Amino acid sequence: MTGPDVIPTRSAALEALAKFAPRAGHLYALQRNYDLGADQHDNVSQLSPYIRHRLITEQEVLDAVLAHHSPQDAQKFIAEVFWRTYWKGWLEMRPDVWKQYQSDLTQAWNNVQTQSGLRSRWQDACMGQTGIVCFDHWARELAQTGYLHNHARMWFASIWIFTLKLPWVLGADFFLRHLLDGDCASNTLSWRWVAGLQTRGKHYLAEPENIARFTKGRFRPQAGDLDTDAQPLDGPMPPDPSAPPTAQDIDLTRPSALLLHMDDLAPDDLLDQGLRPMVTIMLPPSERMTPLRMSDKVQTFRSAALLDVTNRLADLLGDVVTCAPGQTLAAAKAAGAEQIVTHYAPTGPVADNLAQIDGLPLHQALRPFDARAWPYATKGFFKFKDKIPALLAAMRDKAPA
Ligand SMILES: Cc1cc2nc3c(=O)[nH]c(=O)nc-3n(C[C@H](O)[C@H](O)[C@H](O)COP(=O)(O)OP(=O)(O)OC[C@H]3O[C@@H](n4cnc5c(N)ncnc54)[C@H](O)[C@@H]3O)c2cc1C
Repeated sequence: MTGPDVIPTRSAALEALAKFAPRAGHLYALQRNYDLGADQHDNVSQLSPYIRHRLITEQEVLDAVLAHHSPQDAQKFIAEVFWRTYWKGWLEMRPDVWKQYQSDLTQAWNNVQTQSGLRSRWQDACMGQTGIVCFDHWARELAQTGYLHNHARMWFASIWIFTLKLPWVLGADFFLRHLLDGDCASNTLSWRWVAGLQTRGKHYLAEPENIARFTKGRFRPQAGDLDTDAQPLDGPMPPDPSAPPTAQDIDLTRPSALLLHMDDLAPDDLLDQGLRPMVTIMLPPSERMTPLRMSDKVQTFRSAALLDVTNRLADLLGDVVTCAPGQTLAAAKAAGAEQIVTHYAPTGPVADNLAQIDGLPLHQALRPFDARAWPYATKGFFKFKDKIPALLAAMRDKAPA
């Protein structure tokens, strides 16, 4: 199993997008639910590692697809891209859900260390040694390739929670350590959705027939292998939404340090608008996503993706330095910067690191695409989905995003 060849550069991302865009219409709608196995995922875009780190933006993806298809023909694909936007906006207005996840994970991790029964069940699940053939395959596919098809993610999470009865936060952590697209919002909220915590009382149960059908018979779990009667998990209601972030005017002509982080690796729009940083500071990929270690694959991808930006835009970035979050201020001041400019970091470890920077104004440029869409993520996705036509129209009227 080698999995998709995800080269961590913007040019590879653009190439993959150009290759996929013609297939994002009815072919995608017909075939997207089939998980045909590692090396056979061409029915979906596999663009998620690029979009997650914004080596390419959602707007670029949508523009490329709409150059080949009408919004109607590509509506399934467009809706999937907006699922990501919806989850980001939803969490942005409820950051306590991420904090609660982190604290529940710390507790679950303590339990793994102190309860040998739980530890061995958790180890078996992570190593693909549970005896449930499909689940074990997906555990290994994820660890080896850094990717799983969406349907496999749903089945895997469901079996983890309802058949193996393992804490969902440990499963979400397993995903975050191994997925090249591991994302605080999409991952945490998708696991909550499978568990029945996100849409209260509605959970996702993996069914043997569904797995057999959508893997084209690669896996045929027997009746009794999976718990198909389990009840949704119980937990507190999600908090009411707080106000979404709003875009601010940033004077890009002031002496500035540009801060690059793994949540947004396309500073091109800021440079196009005239930013000429005195220094560019790269924040190394954060380890604060997990109490364990990120997989080597994820760490290598992220470090190389950061380097790609500095290679690609070398002429415009000034001196480039890599700094731990605590040294950012000193590096910016040493270069004579009067402000630090960066793209907005949504809820997660990068945002936590940025919150510690104190001593120079820190301006986070919120992309117009997010500023327009996130405020609609107050209720369920289906209400949000009604806004997609208006969001697409606004996107096409206004560049850049
Ligand atoms: C339990 C679970 C955990 C997940 N964890 C993550 C995660 O950490 N990071 C992540 O990016 N996605 C996550 N997803 C969503 C989804 O599985 C992946 O985005 C998708 O499989 C990526 O493959 P693709 O690029 O081929 O998707 P495509 O089908 O080609 O979709 C195009 C793009 O739309 C977005 N997208 C598609 N489906 C979803 C979805 N259901 N939710 C949010 N965005 C979506 C992605 O950016 C994707 O690249 C998770 C889903 C589940 C069920």
